[in-house]
Amino acid sequence: MSDSWKKRTRLVHGGTRRSQYNEVSEAIFLTQGFVYDSAEAAEARFIKAGDDEFIYARYGNPTVAMFEDRIAGLEGTEDGFATASGMAAVSGALTSMLRAGDHVVSARALFGSCLYVLEEVLTRFGVEVTFVDGTDIDAWRAAIRADTKAVFFETISNPTLAVVDIHAVAELAHAVGALVLVDNVFATPVFSRAVEQGADVVIYSATKHIDGQGRALGGVILGTREFIRGTVEPYMKHTGGSMSPFTAWIMLKGLETVDLRVRAQAETALQIANALQGDARLARVIYPGHPSHAQHDLVTAQMGQGGTVLALDLAGGQEAAFRFLNALDIVLISNNLGDAKSIATHPATTTHQRLPDATKAQLGITPGLVRLSVGLEDADDLIEDLTRALDASG
Ligand SMILES: *Cc1c(COP(=O)(O)O)cnc(C)c1O
Repeated sequence: MSDSWKKRTRLVHGGTRRSQYNEVSEAIFLTQGFVYDSAEAAEARFIKAGDDEFIYARYGNPTVAMFEDRIAGLEGTEDGFATASGMAAVSGALTSMLRAGDHVVSARALFGSCLYVLEEVLTRFGVEVTFVDGTDIDAWRAAIRADTKAVFFETISNPTLAVVDIHAVAELAHAVGALVLVDNVFATPVFSRAVEQGADVVIYSATKHIDGQGRALGGVILGTREFIRGTVEPYMKHTGGSMSPFTAWIMLKGLETVDLRVRAQAETALQIANALQGDARLARVIYPGHPSHAQHDLVTAQMGQGGTVLALDLAGGQEAAFRFLNALDIVLISNNLGDAKSIATHPATTTHQRLPDATKAQLGITPGLVRLSVGLEDADDLIEDLTRALDASG
């Protein structure tokens, strides 16, 4: 891969490793192990494996390495480690670098499983975690201490699409030598400029936009070579959260089209936001890329566009939200996002069901809130489907 290649070129050619057959499409190396020429060669590889020398698929594999290099080249990090799921990436990044007695500051508005890792798992092993309102810089300033080791947040929160100012939080964290780890799913690798803005470690659930076609679970941790190979890899390769070669191949092929897909989906998301804004049956239409978003200037500076997800808050509460969901024809009721198929979710009764009502209220997860992940269908068809379902919601 040439350093001068732009993103679209990196997405198609980055990280490619060809076998002796010179295949055009990337090969799936569906193998657990690798044969050594001699006992001495095996010994040497266990002492130090070179870049293209593999030992066991839990440690690394050529197809997985292609995916890691391609996504790292896109994000602009030195290296990456591919994981079995997005949660293996989140938990692996945090657990590999933290030890008992460490202090972490995290945004409170998190994907449920991320909250579980920070609130239940890390604390069980003696890590102290302080939760803050991620959009409140004064709260970050008050919580970050001289001994804080890491800060963690979703750059755009699920499901209410509040945006955290990466640059401002990174400045506070770096002043005390803390690492900035971001879960960047909602920003997408296409619109992300997280590293430029001060993130040290960028985490994706590849299940979302990178696959983009609802097939496989996967994740990736991106960062400096020292962090990935020195901290993450030893932990991941011994604890078992590595990505399978078959999944890596799906994700590699997903990367070839992710830029086209995400830009098309974001364009449709903006058209939907424009069409639904001001509809009396909706108390709120939240889309980071729409000028009505409370942090629109920050969104523009941080990622240029608003991503592929909207939140619609039906004025009629849960009953209206359920009637709306049940009346949808094209949009599916499910809980994935970033898929080619448009998907609607009712967070209060599904993904965020286990949160106490007070926490839901604090996070803006109202009974009428519907999260809409916009797919690749025709924008007019989607707007018609949504408008008709709104008519049925009253
Ligand atoms: C989906 C998601 C995850 C978890 O990813 P999986 O691939 O499902 O394990 C983590 N964080 C965010 C923000 C997500 O949307």
